Amino acid sequence: MRFSQSIAVVTGAGSGIGKATAMRLSDEGAKVLLVGRTKGKLEEASAEINARHPIPVADIFPADVTVEEEVMELAKYVKEQYRDLHILINNAGGSKSSKLLDTSAADWDMIQHVNLKSVFLVSKHLGKLMEEGAGSGNEGSRNRAIVNVASLSGHQAGAFIPHYSSAKAGVISLTKSLALELAAVGIRVNSVSPGFIETPLTEDGLQNEKFVKSIQRNTALERVGKAEEISNVITFAASPEASYMTGTDLLVDGGWLIK
Ligand code: NAP
Repeated sequence: MRFSQSIAVVTGAGSGIGKATAMRLSDEGAKVLLVGRTKGKLEEASAEINARHPIPVADIFPADVTVEEEVMELAKYVKEQYRDLHILINNAGGSKSSKLLDTSAADWDMIQHVNLKSVFLVSKHLGKLMEEGAGSGNEGSRNRAIVNVASLSGHQAGAFIPHYSSAKAGVISLTKSLALELAAVGIRVNSVSPGFIETPLTEDGLQNEKFVKSIQRNTALERVGKAEEISNVITFAASPEASYMTGTDLLVDGGWLIK
Protein backbone atom coordinates (compact mmCIF):
# COMPACT_ATOMS: atom_id res chain seq x y z
CA MET A 1 0.00 0.00 0.00
CA ARG A 2 2.62 2.53 -1.11
CA PHE A 3 -0.05 5.19 -1.77
CA SER A 4 -2.17 4.82 1.33
CA GLN A 5 -3.93 8.16 2.12
CA SER A 6 -2.59 9.71 -1.06
CA ILE A 7 -4.66 11.64 -3.59
CA ALA A 8 -3.70 11.09 -7.23
CA VAL A 9 -4.77 12.71 -10.50
CA VAL A 10 -4.22 10.78 -13.74
CA THR A 11 -4.85 12.49 -17.09
CA GLY A 12 -5.90 10.39 -20.07
CA ALA A 13 -7.17 7.81 -17.59
CA GLY A 14 -10.10 6.50 -19.63
CA SER A 15 -7.98 4.01 -21.56
CA GLY A 16 -4.58 2.41 -22.12
CA ILE A 17 -1.60 3.37 -19.96
CA GLY A 18 -3.54 6.00 -17.97
CA LYS A 19 -6.29 3.57 -17.00
CA ALA A 20 -3.75 0.88 -16.04
CA THR A 21 -1.89 3.46 -13.91
CA ALA A 22 -5.05 4.67 -12.15
CA MET A 23 -5.90 1.06 -11.37
CA ARG A 24 -2.45 0.30 -10.00
CA LEU A 25 -2.32 3.47 -7.85
CA SER A 26 -5.75 2.70 -6.37
CA ASP A 27 -4.80 -0.95 -5.78
CA GLU A 28 -1.96 0.43 -3.64
CA GLY A 29 -4.18 2.70 -1.56
CA ALA A 30 -4.58 5.97 -3.49
CA LYS A 31 -7.80 7.85 -4.12
CA VAL A 32 -7.70 8.57 -7.85
CA LEU A 33 -9.30 11.27 -9.98
CA LEU A 34 -9.58 10.19 -13.61
CA VAL A 35 -9.34 12.98 -16.19
CA GLY A 36 -10.05 12.81 -19.94
CA ARG A 37 -12.37 14.29 -22.54
CA THR A 38 -14.80 11.38 -22.96
CA LYS A 39 -17.09 11.03 -19.95
CA GLY A 40 -18.28 7.55 -20.94
CA LYS A 41 -14.72 6.15 -20.99
CA LEU A 42 -13.96 7.70 -17.59
CA GLU A 43 -17.19 6.29 -16.14
CA GLU A 44 -16.34 2.80 -17.40
CA ALA A 45 -12.78 2.98 -16.08
CA SER A 46 -13.85 4.31 -12.67
CA ALA A 47 -16.56 1.64 -12.36
CA GLU A 48 -13.94 -1.04 -13.11
CA ILE A 49 -11.62 0.41 -10.46
CA ASN A 50 -14.34 0.88 -7.84
CA ALA A 51 -15.52 -2.72 -8.31
CA ARG A 52 -12.14 -3.81 -6.86
CA HIS A 53 -12.69 -1.94 -3.56
CA PRO A 54 -15.22 -2.08 -0.70
CA ILE A 55 -15.75 1.71 -0.91
CA PRO A 56 -15.38 3.91 -4.01
CA VAL A 57 -11.81 5.18 -4.53
CA ALA A 58 -12.11 6.53 -8.09
CA ASP A 59 -13.85 9.71 -9.20
CA ILE A 60 -13.96 11.35 -12.63
CA PHE A 61 -13.50 14.86 -14.01
CA PRO A 62 -14.13 15.22 -17.75
CA ALA A 63 -11.84 17.92 -19.14
CA ASP A 64 -9.69 18.82 -22.12
CA VAL A 65 -6.21 19.30 -20.69
CA THR A 66 -5.18 21.57 -23.57
CA VAL A 67 -7.67 24.24 -22.46
CA GLU A 68 -6.44 26.38 -19.56
CA GLU A 69 -9.94 27.26 -18.27
CA GLU A 70 -10.82 23.56 -18.01
CA VAL A 71 -7.55 22.80 -16.24
CA MET A 72 -8.27 25.64 -13.79
CA GLU A 73 -11.71 24.12 -13.13
CA LEU A 74 -9.97 20.79 -12.50
CA ALA A 75 -7.62 22.41 -9.96
CA LYS A 76 -10.60 24.04 -8.24
CA TYR A 77 -12.42 20.72 -8.06
CA VAL A 78 -9.38 18.93 -6.59
CA LYS A 79 -8.98 21.65 -3.97
CA GLU A 80 -12.65 21.56 -2.98
CA GLN A 81 -13.02 17.78 -2.95
CA TYR A 82 -9.66 16.64 -1.59
CA ARG A 83 -7.94 19.80 -0.25
CA ASP A 84 -4.52 18.39 -1.25
CA LEU A 85 -2.77 16.50 -4.05
CA HIS A 86 0.16 14.11 -3.71
CA ILE A 87 0.56 12.38 -7.07
CA LEU A 88 0.08 13.80 -10.57
CA ILE A 89 0.41 11.61 -13.66
CA ASN A 90 0.48 13.68 -16.87
CA ASN A 91 -0.36 10.90 -19.28
CA ALA A 92 -2.86 12.37 -21.79
CA GLY A 93 -1.41 12.40 -25.27
CA GLY A 94 -1.92 11.33 -28.83
CA SER A 95 -0.44 11.23 -32.29
CA LYS A 96 -1.20 11.21 -35.97
CA SER A 97 1.10 10.28 -38.86
CA SER A 98 2.27 12.84 -41.39
CA LYS A 99 5.54 13.96 -42.93
CA LEU A 100 6.71 17.41 -41.81
CA LEU A 101 6.25 18.87 -45.30
CA ASP A 102 2.65 17.65 -45.35
CA THR A 103 1.74 18.74 -41.82
CA SER A 104 -0.74 21.59 -41.47
CA ALA A 105 -0.08 24.28 -38.88
CA ALA A 106 -3.34 23.27 -37.17
CA ASP A 107 -2.19 19.64 -36.81
CA TRP A 108 1.22 20.80 -35.58
CA ASP A 109 -0.46 22.89 -32.86
CA MET A 110 -2.91 20.13 -31.94
CA ILE A 111 -0.17 17.51 -31.40
CA GLN A 112 2.07 19.99 -29.53
CA HIS A 113 -0.83 21.04 -27.32
CA VAL A 114 -2.09 17.61 -26.35
CA ASN A 115 1.38 16.21 -25.65
CA LEU A 116 3.37 19.20 -24.32
CA LYS A 117 1.20 22.22 -23.51
CA SER A 118 -1.09 19.95 -21.48
CA VAL A 119 1.86 18.96 -19.25
CA PHE A 120 2.65 22.65 -18.72
CA LEU A 121 -0.95 23.62 -17.93
CA VAL A 122 -1.77 20.72 -15.61
CA SER A 123 1.60 20.90 -13.83
CA LYS A 124 1.17 24.66 -13.35
CA HIS A 125 -2.34 24.61 -11.89
CA LEU A 126 -2.19 21.34 -9.94
CA GLY A 127 1.47 21.86 -9.05
CA LYS A 128 0.46 24.94 -7.06
CA LEU A 129 -1.89 22.82 -4.99
CA MET A 130 0.85 20.20 -4.43
CA GLU A 131 3.26 22.96 -3.43
CA GLU A 132 0.76 24.40 -0.90
CA GLY A 133 0.29 20.94 0.65
CA ALA A 134 4.02 20.33 0.78
CA GLY A 135 4.40 23.43 2.93
CA SER A 136 1.80 22.41 5.50
CA GLY A 137 2.87 20.75 8.77
CA ASN A 138 2.90 16.94 9.03
CA GLU A 139 1.20 16.51 5.67
CA GLY A 140 4.15 18.30 4.12
CA SER A 141 6.42 15.30 4.62
CA ARG A 142 4.22 12.96 2.57
CA ASN A 143 5.64 11.57 -0.70
CA ARG A 144 4.75 13.94 -3.55
CA ALA A 145 5.58 13.31 -7.18
CA ILE A 146 4.75 14.21 -10.75
CA VAL A 147 5.29 11.66 -13.52
CA ASN A 148 5.04 12.79 -17.13
CA VAL A 149 4.50 10.23 -19.87
CA ALA A 150 6.95 11.02 -22.69
CA SER A 151 7.95 8.49 -25.37
CA LEU A 152 10.75 6.58 -27.06
CA SER A 153 9.93 9.03 -29.88
CA GLY A 154 11.23 11.84 -27.66
CA HIS A 155 14.65 10.12 -27.82
CA GLN A 156 14.62 8.97 -31.43
CA ALA A 157 13.32 10.83 -34.48
CA GLY A 158 10.32 9.43 -36.33
CA ALA A 159 9.99 10.36 -40.00
CA PHE A 160 6.20 10.36 -39.92
CA ILE A 161 5.68 11.93 -36.49
CA PRO A 162 7.85 15.10 -36.38
CA HIS A 163 5.27 17.00 -34.28
CA TYR A 164 4.89 14.12 -31.81
CA SER A 165 8.66 13.42 -31.50
CA SER A 166 9.46 17.06 -30.86
CA ALA A 167 6.61 17.43 -28.36
CA LYS A 168 7.75 14.35 -26.44
CA ALA A 169 11.39 15.56 -26.45
CA GLY A 170 9.90 18.74 -24.98
CA VAL A 171 8.20 16.71 -22.24
CA ILE A 172 11.54 15.14 -21.29
CA SER A 173 13.14 18.59 -21.11
CA LEU A 174 10.21 20.23 -19.29
CA THR A 175 10.35 17.42 -16.72
CA LYS A 176 13.93 18.39 -15.85
CA SER A 177 13.12 22.10 -15.53
CA LEU A 178 10.14 21.39 -13.30
CA ALA A 179 12.18 18.94 -11.21
CA LEU A 180 14.70 21.73 -10.52
CA GLU A 181 11.94 24.18 -9.64
CA LEU A 182 10.05 21.86 -7.30
CA ALA A 183 12.97 20.09 -5.61
CA ALA A 184 13.09 22.81 -2.96
CA VAL A 185 9.60 21.87 -1.76
CA GLY A 186 10.24 18.12 -1.95
CA ILE A 187 8.16 17.36 -5.04
CA ARG A 188 9.94 14.95 -7.38
CA VAL A 189 9.34 15.16 -11.14
CA ASN A 190 10.30 12.41 -13.58
CA SER A 191 9.22 11.16 -16.98
CA VAL A 192 8.63 7.67 -18.34
CA SER A 193 9.23 6.98 -22.04
CA PRO A 194 7.36 3.95 -23.34
CA GLY A 195 8.38 2.11 -26.51
CA PHE A 196 5.69 0.41 -28.61
CA ILE A 197 2.78 -0.53 -26.32
CA GLU A 198 -0.55 -2.22 -27.09
CA THR A 199 -3.25 0.42 -26.35
CA PRO A 200 -6.09 2.12 -28.28
CA LEU A 201 -3.45 4.56 -29.61
CA THR A 202 -1.62 1.78 -31.46
CA GLU A 203 -4.66 -0.38 -32.25
CA ASP A 204 -4.71 0.43 -35.98
CA GLY A 205 -0.99 -0.18 -36.44
CA LEU A 206 -1.23 -3.51 -34.65
CA GLN A 207 -3.76 -4.76 -37.24
CA ASN A 208 -0.91 -4.70 -39.76
CA GLU A 209 1.08 -7.92 -39.50
CA LYS A 210 4.10 -6.55 -41.41
CA PHE A 211 4.29 -3.61 -39.02
CA VAL A 212 4.10 -5.85 -35.94
CA LYS A 213 6.84 -8.09 -37.36
CA SER A 214 9.10 -5.07 -37.89
CA ILE A 215 8.57 -3.98 -34.29
CA GLN A 216 9.41 -7.47 -33.05
CA ARG A 217 12.55 -7.52 -35.23
CA ASN A 218 13.69 -4.12 -33.91
CA THR A 219 13.01 -4.75 -30.23
CA ALA A 220 15.52 -6.72 -28.14
CA LEU A 221 12.69 -8.43 -26.24
CA GLU A 222 11.06 -9.22 -29.62
CA ARG A 223 7.53 -8.15 -28.68
CA VAL A 224 5.17 -5.23 -28.19
CA GLY A 225 4.71 -4.07 -24.56
CA LYS A 226 1.58 -4.08 -22.42
CA ALA A 227 0.03 -1.04 -20.68
CA GLU A 228 0.65 -2.68 -17.28
CA GLU A 229 4.38 -2.90 -18.04
CA ILE A 230 4.41 0.91 -18.29
CA SER A 231 2.07 1.56 -15.37
CA ASN A 232 4.40 -0.54 -13.17
CA VAL A 233 7.25 1.87 -13.93
CA ILE A 234 5.11 5.01 -13.64
CA THR A 235 3.91 3.78 -10.25
CA PHE A 236 7.47 3.14 -9.11
CA ALA A 237 8.53 6.68 -10.15
CA ALA A 238 5.57 8.10 -8.22
CA SER A 239 6.21 6.00 -5.12
CA PRO A 240 8.32 6.65 -2.00
CA GLU A 241 10.68 3.91 -3.26
CA ALA A 242 11.93 6.45 -5.83
CA SER A 243 12.61 9.05 -3.11
CA TYR A 244 16.10 9.99 -4.44
CA MET A 245 15.06 10.13 -8.09
CA THR A 246 14.11 13.41 -9.74
CA GLY A 247 14.62 15.07 -13.13
CA THR A 248 15.24 11.82 -14.95
CA ASP A 249 13.63 9.86 -17.74
CA LEU A 250 12.95 6.13 -17.51
CA LEU A 251 13.06 4.53 -20.95
CA VAL A 252 10.84 1.42 -21.10
CA ASP A 253 11.18 0.29 -24.71
CA GLY A 254 11.82 -3.46 -24.52
CA GLY A 255 15.39 -2.74 -25.68
CA TRP A 256 14.53 -0.87 -28.92
CA LEU A 257 17.22 1.80 -28.63
CA ILE A 258 20.03 -0.66 -27.89
CA LYS A 259 19.43 -2.61 -31.14
P1 NAP B 1 -4.72 6.02 -25.32
O1 NAP B 1 -5.38 4.80 -24.79
O2 NAP B 1 -5.24 6.62 -26.57
O3 NAP B 1 -4.70 7.10 -24.13
C1 NAP B 1 -4.61 8.47 -24.31
C2 NAP B 1 -5.67 9.11 -23.42
O4 NAP B 1 -5.51 10.51 -23.43
C3 NAP B 1 -7.08 8.79 -23.90
O5 NAP B 1 -7.79 8.17 -22.86
C4 NAP B 1 -7.65 10.16 -24.27
O6 NAP B 1 -9.02 10.20 -23.88
C5 NAP B 1 -6.78 11.11 -23.45
N1 NAP B 1 -6.67 12.42 -24.07
C6 NAP B 1 -6.28 12.69 -25.32
N2 NAP B 1 -6.34 14.01 -25.56
C7 NAP B 1 -6.77 14.59 -24.40
C8 NAP B 1 -7.07 15.92 -24.02
N3 NAP B 1 -6.88 16.93 -24.85
N4 NAP B 1 -7.52 16.14 -22.76
C9 NAP B 1 -7.70 15.12 -21.90
N5 NAP B 1 -7.43 13.84 -22.21
C10 NAP B 1 -6.98 13.58 -23.45
O7 NAP B 1 -3.18 5.76 -25.59
P2 NAP B 1 -1.97 5.34 -24.62
O8 NAP B 1 -1.04 4.58 -25.48
O9 NAP B 1 -2.44 4.76 -23.36
O10 NAP B 1 -1.29 6.77 -24.37
C11 NAP B 1 -0.97 7.27 -23.10
C12 NAP B 1 0.30 8.08 -23.18
O11 NAP B 1 1.39 7.21 -23.53
C13 NAP B 1 0.28 9.19 -24.25
O12 NAP B 1 0.91 10.34 -23.73
C14 NAP B 1 1.11 8.59 -25.37
O13 NAP B 1 1.70 9.58 -26.18
C15 NAP B 1 2.14 7.81 -24.56
N6 NAP B 1 2.85 6.77 -25.31
C16 NAP B 1 2.16 5.68 -25.80
C17 NAP B 1 2.88 4.73 -26.51
C18 NAP B 1 2.21 3.50 -27.09
O14 NAP B 1 2.88 2.76 -27.83
N7 NAP B 1 0.97 3.23 -26.79
C19 NAP B 1 4.26 4.87 -26.72
C20 NAP B 1 4.91 5.98 -26.20
C21 NAP B 1 4.19 6.93 -25.49
P3 NAP B 1 -10.07 11.17 -24.58
O15 NAP B 1 -9.87 11.03 -26.06
O16 NAP B 1 -11.38 10.65 -24.09
O17 NAP B 1 -9.78 12.52 -24.06
